[in-house]
Amino acid sequence: MIREFTYEALPMRVVFGAGAVRRIPEEAERLGIERALVLATPQQTALAGTACDLLADRAVEIFDRARMHVPVETVAAAAAVAADRGADGCVAIGGGSTIGLGKALALRQGLPVLAVPTTYAGSEMTPIWGLTDNARKQTGRDPAVLPRSVIYDPELTLPLPAGLSATSGLNAIAHAVEALYAPDASPVISAMAERGIRGLAGSLPTITGDPADIDARSAALQGAWLCGACLGATTMGLHHKLCHVLGGVLDLQHAETHAVVLPHVAAFNLDAAPDARSALQRALDTTDPAEGLAELAARLGAPGSLAELGVTDADLPAVIEEVLASPYTNPRPVSREALERLLHAAVHGGPTVAT
Ligand code: NAD
Repeated sequence: MIREFTYEALPMRVVFGAGAVRRIPEEAERLGIERALVLATPQQTALAGTACDLLADRAVEIFDRARMHVPVETVAAAAAVAADRGADGCVAIGGGSTIGLGKALALRQGLPVLAVPTTYAGSEMTPIWGLTDNARKQTGRDPAVLPRSVIYDPELTLPLPAGLSATSGLNAIAHAVEALYAPDASPVISAMAERGIRGLAGSLPTITGDPADIDARSAALQGAWLCGACLGATTMGLHHKLCHVLGGVLDLQHAETHAVVLPHVAAFNLDAAPDARSALQRALDTTDPAEGLAELAARLGAPGSLAELGVTDADLPAVIEEVLASPYTNPRPVSREALERLLHAAVHGGPTVAT
């Protein structure tokens, strides 16, 4: 039986291709950006310099202090530079942290964002913003923060280390897995999710063996785009809730947490989501998608347990309380006992458990 659905396309412009970074000036011009503030992390200052050189007199300054989780102090500092230099738009070149800073500036000052992602996190495809104040991360949705244009250049992902490529790619797969059983799933999103997962699962093992393989990098980045679009269009469930809480309460690295937790949540949820299970069976070429995800993570050398990230059993009660305290959608109701079992298996790297 075909379920009822509502599908609303997000107004995204995507430019994809090896060498597409050279189209930054053209895209900035299309958006009417004449005085761009170029955003980056301190690790990607040289790349920001390349963007600046390409933009020539369309760039006014580089702000290379983007940080994980978008601290409000960083946003205030970037906003001051933008105001001081009369910036009329941002070029955010980097991973989710840099694009998150661009979104924060869009929220605060209405600056249009041209995003040039260099990881597989997918933030560029979503109207979701995040801000951290006093160690508390707040998130929300606002169409104003959606980048107006996105340039995907697989060549920019070549320096992404094998380990980060693996965990970032698994993070992207997690968006698509949860989109498959989201209450607001639709045929368009499900098709994108399946294709995105297949693209990433097929290319990530090649990338961890040879990070300079441009064909695999292209396939992975295309997969990341599709998975990011899934995140932007649907409501995430238990997996994203758990990762958000684990990251917030225990200050864990974002992508690694996703890599560990995903197979456990898939095992728990897929019995209640038969269409999602079928799509994952096709995308991963396996009869058991939860095990397929665990095997993929192991093959990629991703951490296999939360213990490897420093989590102990003693950390779990606070996490469980916070997960149970606020509602979220999920195909299966989540009891305290089920959460305890799931998290215990995730901490110790035990087999995925369906009940
Ligand atoms: P990141 O942006 O924090 O980058 C991690 C590190 O890798 C940084 O030092 C960065 O400079 C470096 N790096 C990035 N690309 C590189 C490349 N090609 N080569 C070499 N080094 C590179 O990591 P991330 O995983 O992309 O983003 C994580 C953040 O994004 C989290 O805060 C998460 O909450 C957020 N996020 C938000 C959304 C959303 O929709 N709002 C979606 C996904 C992730």
